[in-house]
Amino acid sequence: AEIYGIDRWGHEILSVLPNGDAGLIDVLNRDATPVSIPSILQDLRVRGITTPVLLRVNSFLQSSLVELNEGFKAAIRDYDYQGDYRGVFPVKVNQQAEVVRRIVETGGQYHYGLEVGSKPELLIALAQNLSREALLICNGVKDEEFIRLAIMSRKMGFNTIIVLESPKELDHVFKVAKDLNEKPALGVRIKLTHQIKGYWATSSGDRSSFGITVDNVVDVVDRLKAEGMEDCLVLQHSHLGSQIPDINDVRRTVNEACRFYTELKSLGLPLQYLDLGGGLGIDYTGEKQANENSINYGLAEYCEAIVETVKYAMDDAGVAHPNIVTESGRGVVALSSMLLFDILDVTLYDSKVEPEVREDDHHLIRDLLGITSYLSSKRLQESVNDAIYYRDEIRAYFRRGNLNIRAMARAESVFRYLVSKFKQYAAEIEIPPQLEEQLDGFADIYHGNFSLFQSLPDVWAIDQLHPVMPVQRLNEVPERRAVLSDITCDSDGKVDKFVLADGVSNTLPVHEITDEEDYYIGVFFVGAYQETLGDLHNLFGDTNVVTISLKENGDFDLLHEVEGDTIAEVLNAVEYEASACLAAFRQRADEAVSQKEMTISERRELIAAYKDSLAGYTYFES
Ligand code: PLP
Repeated sequence: AEIYGIDRWGHEILSVLPNGDAGLIDVLNRDATPVSIPSILQDLRVRGITTPVLLRVNSFLQSSLVELNEGFKAAIRDYDYQGDYRGVFPVKVNQQAEVVRRIVETGGQYHYGLEVGSKPELLIALAQNLSREALLICNGVKDEEFIRLAIMSRKMGFNTIIVLESPKELDHVFKVAKDLNEKPALGVRIKLTHQIKGYWATSSGDRSSFGITVDNVVDVVDRLKAEGMEDCLVLQHSHLGSQIPDINDVRRTVNEACRFYTELKSLGLPLQYLDLGGGLGIDYTGEKQANENSINYGLAEYCEAIVETVKYAMDDAGVAHPNIVTESGRGVVALSSMLLFDILDVTLYDSKVEPEVREDDHHLIRDLLGITSYLSSKRLQESVNDAIYYRDEIRAYFRRGNLNIRAMARAESVFRYLVSKFKQYAAEIEIPPQLEEQLDGFADIYHGNFSLFQSLPDVWAIDQLHPVMPVQRLNEVPERRAVLSDITCDSDGKVDKFVLADGVSNTLPVHEITDEEDYYIGVFFVGAYQETLGDLHNLFGDTNVVTISLKENGDFDLLHEVEGDTIAEVLNAVEYEASACLAAFRQRADEAVSQKEMTISERRELIAAYKDSLAGYTYFES
């Protein structure tokens, strides 16, 4: 199990049970027996919930939220900070009803609110049980209807704040406020100039898409004053970025945000809230370093860095400490769920079957086989070079018509035998990275029952790393190395970068699979962004989703279940009506019957199969 590096990247929520199963640790009760992931899958299967399944663990969700709020509480106390912390969850990071509901429920004790970036998200937020103390922050491009709803919602006890993303939105605000004769609570989103590093660098800095540049901010303030509405401006929003790798970038950007805040205060504005947006990162690799997939800070350090920076900046300027708002999405939900899928099939690249020497072989095939006479650890690289050379020559001969298909097939099986020998020697010695890469190119392919495009879009789009690991047999040495291919017919649909104990690898150590036992793989920390960014490539729909709570005795309770999309549903999403498809199919079957190409009972069977498929899961069903 050590090879996977769970101790490094596991965030202390995963363990290995004595029987080799991956176990889930109840972070809210660390003395409880960890719950075996394979046994959860078995139980779900009995209930009719099959893989792929997105498994969400309630205590993981709760604990991230509690840690964030407690982190700010502790920092506020330690630095004798005079303002409060009022976090909000950005709905776009995981809009699933179950997630939002549980966040609002757990966050209630902290007056934790919601952030919305669109009208549909606003409607979600307005249907939640948010207290008056919790904020409802409205970002994003807003039309008049959006603004009307936001202003009116304050009458119902929502603490809704409209954050101006552009000076143009002011026109709508003035008009609606006059129509309703209501004063809104407003924020202004200011573009910071400091750019953070990492995958989301462009979401920060003055070339980022959202926010108002400094010249326009002054204009907005003047227009508010002219309308007698400057007392409405209670919040300054400055999004720091997303997945910020370096804590000092957090400090620098917060500092810049504070400069704007103190300047705006000096213009006589009644600001009370400093909203620093998102940015709290997740250490996906456990490296604890500032890079795209890791961060060089912990949660407590993040909270302290913000509170300390704001306090010093405010004290220097003689400005009262604002209430600090953050819009952490990833940091709150990323750890809470994992994608679990079964391996459907395996393409083994190498072969242990030793080919016999044949006198009538083509001389190139004899050369290829001859490599076995000098192959040794010392001459491994040379042997690999030779094998690739002879194999490519043989392929070229075949393409030109100088070798037949049987000879070509024999050459390929000799090559695969050599590959198994190469891997055997490589496992015993230290090999240079280039040779390792060459051998990785001969890794097995494990075909998984999932769609990368639906369930792990950031892995496909930006090479985001998520820890990936088999969830059983972790007490057995994994003897094979594989890349994972998904169920879509797309060569991009594969995972070939893995977080292991000794760094990032192009192959995943896996076990040889047997026909008797299912073999499951887990992809961890997929709670943020992945669920709703996913698309319907090849019309693979949403997976089954279950939320569980872990029990003290190593068992679990099923809290919530959402069945994955049926084929009829995904067809509907691309404008096919299932009933029309069925009617067309039925008509064609009727024609076949009348032409005597099919019997009536065959027709019945075929139509039943079509109907079953329409109502069934889009993924492989065993
Ligand atoms: N707030 C705003 C305005 C954002 O644009 C984002 C994401 O980019 C977030 C909050 C959430 O950021 P994160 O998931 O890094 O916490």
